[in-house]
Amino acid sequence: IPEYAFIGRSNVGKSSLINMLTSRKSLAKTSGRPGKTQLINHFLINKNWYLVDLPGYGYAKVSKSAKKTFQKFITQYFALREQLVSAFVLVDIRHKPQLIDLEFMQWLGQNGIPFSIIFTKADKLRPKAIENHVAEYKNILLETWEEMPNYFITSSSKDIGKEDVLVYIDELNSNMKLN
Ligand code: GDP
Repeated sequence: IPEYAFIGRSNVGKSSLINMLTSRKSLAKTSGRPGKTQLINHFLINKNWYLVDLPGYGYAKVSKSAKKTFQKFITQYFALREQLVSAFVLVDIRHKPQLIDLEFMQWLGQNGIPFSIIFTKADKLRPKAIENHVAEYKNILLETWEEMPNYFITSSSKDIGKEDVLVYIDELNSNMKLN
């Protein structure tokens, strides 16, 4: 069964996004307490793909050893990744491009792991500001990448972007069946 891995900094809105995508409010617990998602969870969606919930990275307030443990889980997951089709790197649309996210995308690229970007919390910015922030990402990413990775603009609280992500995954799934 194909897998899609969701990852980002703690507090980026990953649990909320997963809840939106799965339409089950209680599935992945959200909390105001960052760094709470500690282990890797698999959610079977439509009986034909797994949504893999990876631990958040880069939250300043967790201990060094916790960070290392998270990193170990993440690298081990990607090292095996037998069923992984693509990763989704979540970034908060409100922030300017952050080194930690850029480095993580770089790392995925170096390891040959396909990924898309999911911008979260789009309800917090006006459309013009969203455009500007995406353009900044494009500028920075195009310094190292030949093209801008596929990206999605989402808001879990306003239910934005859900279909885009789900349709994209369905397309990848049917492409895999054809091949
Ligand atoms: P996680 O740590 O990445 O799993 O993030 P959560 O899903 O727990 O969300 C972290 C915080 O951001 C919570 O206070 C959420 O209510 C808030 N949040 C998440 N998604 C959105 C969104 O789309 N819009 C807004 N305004 N807030 C959000």
